[in-house]
Amino acid sequence: MSDQSLKPSTRLLRAGRPHLGWVNTPVTRASTYVFDSVANWRETRLNRESRRMVSYGARGTDSTHALEDALVELEGGHRAQLFPTGHAAIATLLLGLLSPGDHVVVTDAVYEPVRRFCSQHLARFGVVVEYFLPDGSDLADRLRPETRLIYTECPGSLAFEMMDLPAAARLARRHGCLLAVDNTWGSGLLYRPLALGADISVLAATKYLSGHADVMMGAIVSTERAWEAIQRASVGLGQTVGADDAYLVLRGMRSLIPRIEMHARHAMQVAGWLEAQPGVARVLCPALPGDPGHRLWQRDCHGTNGLLSVEFEPGIPAKAVEAAIDRLQLFGIGASWGGFESLALPVDMAAARSVADWSGHGPIMRLHVGLEDPGDLVADLRQAFSALAP
Ligand SMILES: *Cc1c(COP(=O)(O)O)cnc(C)c1O
Repeated sequence: MSDQSLKPSTRLLRAGRPHLGWVNTPVTRASTYVFDSVANWRETRLNRESRRMVSYGARGTDSTHALEDALVELEGGHRAQLFPTGHAAIATLLLGLLSPGDHVVVTDAVYEPVRRFCSQHLARFGVVVEYFLPDGSDLADRLRPETRLIYTECPGSLAFEMMDLPAAARLARRHGCLLAVDNTWGSGLLYRPLALGADISVLAATKYLSGHADVMMGAIVSTERAWEAIQRASVGLGQTVGADDAYLVLRGMRSLIPRIEMHARHAMQVAGWLEAQPGVARVLCPALPGDPGHRLWQRDCHGTNGLLSVEFEPGIPAKAVEAAIDRLQLFGIGASWGGFESLALPVDMAAARSVADWSGHGPIMRLHVGLEDPGDLVADLRQAFSALAP
C-alpha cells in the first residue's frame, strides 16, 4: 500500500484514503455486522485475530481502519491499534506485556500519570518497577534477568531530556526484552522510534495528530514481534474508539506537517526572547544549541514542536512564577498541549522525578507555543514577566 519512494508529506496525505470515490473515508458508526451465512460468520471469527476484517464494531470499522493505516504509514511498523485516550494505550501496553514477577525499567522522565499507574496497578499484579535516568546513562546497570520491558519517553515529559534510543534498542536486543517508547512529542513526524530500533511506539493522538483540542485518542504502533501481545491485551481489555473520533484524528493528521512546522517556528522565536530575559536561567528544548540533548536531537529528530520549558533562576519564588502565569492573557492554563492554542503551566520537577536530582534549580514553567502571532505571544509574556524581575 505504502510507496516508500514518495516523500513523507505526500505519503501522509495519501494514507488511509479510498482509492476512488470520496476523498475521505466516510464515518461508519457501527456495532453489529450482519453475515450472509453461519459459515462466513464462523470463518471471520476464526481469522480476525491474524487478519484485519470487519466482524463487530468493537473490533474496528472502515473509519478506524483508515486511521490505523495512516498511523502505520507515519510511524512505520506492522500494525496499529487505537485507544480512547493516550493513557489507555499505555496502560494496556503495560498490562499486556508484563506478568507477575516481571521487572520493567521506566524512564524517570515519564509522563506523570504513568508513574501513578505503575505504583497503583502494576505493583498490585506483582510487577516490579524501577526508574532509570532520563539520559539512559544507568539503563544497562538496571537490567535484571527478569526485565521484560524498557519503557521510555524521548524527549522526556516536562524537561525534554534526550536519550540514545538506538543504544537502548541494542541493549534490549542483547537482553531479550522489548523496548517501548512514548512518542507523543514526536507524533511520528519529528521522531520515529521504530526506525531507531524500538519495538513499540505509543502516543497520545489527543495532542498534535488531532491538533485541535477537540478529541481524545491514543494509539500503539508496533513491530510484528510485539503485535500479538498488544492485540490480545487490547481485545481482552475491551479497548475501542468511536468512528467520529477516528475521523476527527485522521482529518487533523492531514495538516500535521504544516502545523508542527509553524508551532516550531513560533516556539523558536519565543525561546529566543525568553533566553534573553533577566531571571531566566535557561530554556529547555533539545532543538536549542545550549540544551544537553541537542547533539542527540540533531542526530535522531526531524525538527521540533511548540513545547518549551522555562527554568527560572533559583532566587525567583515559585509563587511569583505562578502569579506571572495568572497574568498571561493569550496562554491558557491547561493540560494537553498539541492543539492550535498556546498554554502555560507551572511544573514541580522535584515531584516529577524520583532518580534525577533537580534540587538547587529554580521554578519551571512549561509553555505550549501555539499558532497565534508570535509577536503577540512575546508581548503577552513580556507583560506577565514584568513583575518577575528580581
Ligand atoms: C498527554 C500525554 C499522554 C496521555 O494522553 P491522553 O490522551 O491525555 O490520555 C501520554 N503521554 C504523553 C507524553 C502525553 O503528553
